[in-house]
Amino acid sequence: MSEEKSSDFPSQKEIEKDISNYLTKKYGERIKIIGIHAQPEVADSSLIDKKNAAVSITHNFSIKPEELNAYLNEYVIRQDDAKAVLSTKICTHFNRIRHALTHPEHKEHGVGQIKNNVLLMGPTGVGKTYLVKLIAKKIGVPFIKGDATKFSETGYVGGDVEDLIRDLVREADDDLESAQYGIIYIDEIDKISSSANRIGPDISRGGVQRALLKPMEETEVDLKVPHDPISQMEAIERYRATGKRQRKVINTQNILFIMSGAFTGLADIIKKRVQKQSIGFGSIISNQKTSSHFLKQVKAEDLIQYGFESEFVGRLPVVSCLDELTADDLNEILLNFNCPVIVGKKLDFRAYGIHIQFAEEAIRQIADQSYTEQTGARGLVSVMEKILLPFEKKLPSTDIKFLAVSEELVHHPVRELERLLKEPDRATFHEEQFYLYEQKEKERLINFMRHAKSVYLEQHDIAVTETRLNLVAEQCQIKIMDTEVALDLFRELIEQIKQCANTISNKSGLKVIFSDEAIDWVLSRKSLTPEAIKGLCGDLL
Ligand code: ADP
Repeated sequence: MSEEKSSDFPSQKEIEKDISNYLTKKYGERIKIIGIHAQPEVADSSLIDKKNAAVSITHNFSIKPEELNAYLNEYVIRQDDAKAVLSTKICTHFNRIRHALTHPEHKEHGVGQIKNNVLLMGPTGVGKTYLVKLIAKKIGVPFIKGDATKFSETGYVGGDVEDLIRDLVREADDDLESAQYGIIYIDEIDKISSSANRIGPDISRGGVQRALLKPMEETEVDLKVPHDPISQMEAIERYRATGKRQRKVINTQNILFIMSGAFTGLADIIKKRVQKQSIGFGSIISNQKTSSHFLKQVKAEDLIQYGFESEFVGRLPVVSCLDELTADDLNEILLNFNCPVIVGKKLDFRAYGIHIQFAEEAIRQIADQSYTEQTGARGLVSVMEKILLPFEKKLPSTDIKFLAVSEELVHHPVRELERLLKEPDRATFHEEQFYLYEQKEKERLINFMRHAKSVYLEQHDIAVTETRLNLVAEQCQIKIMDTEVALDLFRELIEQIKQCANTISNKSGLKVIFSDEAIDWVLSRKSLTPEAIKGLCGDLL
């Protein structure tokens, strides 16, 4: 209703006053009219939803370390120690938060006192970031990655340590509730040790370490940055709306910090210590031992000798060392259906309506070529690009819709592209090969799910039948869908069928149950969407 006063229509305030007078006359002072303008502000419902989501993640956290470890096994090859350490410590971190929230009497011994911040050591491209990203996604907490070489203790060079925390809040769409349980990952942490090569003219590496100490434990970070005009304007806007000068801060008590680096040279320090200790025990340390063999024996004193302050090392109580990846590991990474490198390439081509599949021999070749680059799994992306870029450039302008990547194509991409463009039969050959490779991939996928996912299916009371594994594998391939997402969708569909049976039971008074075979029959007859299943169940019943 408009507040404007017109001669023949009373204003909102006048109506409220009249009704209020009437009610007071009739019921006395007990009843009052409160104008809309005086009502509490209705919060944005999306913000409420997000807040509820954050609260529910932390209050209802129930993931166990073994479960998280099994999830990581589905995506990450090798790195068993890092998987075990991260899944255990991160689960414990969130379980302790839940426990402190639901048992206020234990608050005094809360999470803030000993945080499970983690230090990951290992060369580039072996899965450090990937592991942490996967965990953050699984748990549903915000995650950001920063680079230690960008910090100074006072800011300005590249960014202030506290900027990272503000970035985390931004990543959580300004939802402080959710951001305070986020994960901050800082790479290249070895570059802020005092023994590291200089990273800039005026930076004190010790100063950066000291600047990290407080956030790593507990501090309040002001979200308003003095030199940022946007946050200044937001503060003025808030003051105008509420009349209050509000200091918007975030407490870092529950933010988990994970640091990582290659730590070149640290293995030598550890080796010297180990050698010194072993003198007199008659043991000889072989020169053949790899640096990761020594890094696995790291102690706080080695990190201090490497150039870290003892307070800084003390705030990283959990350390894990990741393995270098062999050519066989790279091969296994590519064979994994959820491998982002292969999924990414499939999506690149699918965006042009082109279907692409890889022969197992081609994958082996790509793995071998990538291994020579010595950049871990990062080499897979560059090798893949080198081979497929000419196809990605030319095929979208043709009618060719299938690309089968064979071993020969990997060896001679340009020659194969010329044949495909010139020889009319070559496109048909690629289509036929595509279906062959797709079938092989499906077999691998079914095998993978039978092993990795049977626990998941049993946990949700879903029988593992061949038809189901086939159906999920097909969906994964058609929609280029993550196995985890496909299984969640599948579980939802089975729930939908059971709900339909319940509805009909209630309406008809007859007990209706779908057998596993009947469920499989329904699932294989309709395109797999909850609406389609609902419609079919309705028709059937
Ligand atoms: P870094 O160890 O340098 O942090 P990343 O974790 O960013 O390396 O790895 C880059 C990419 O390589 C990841 O996104 C992932 O696709 C792949 N990758 C790396 N290591 C592994 C692994 N052990 N298993 C599966 N994929 C991996």
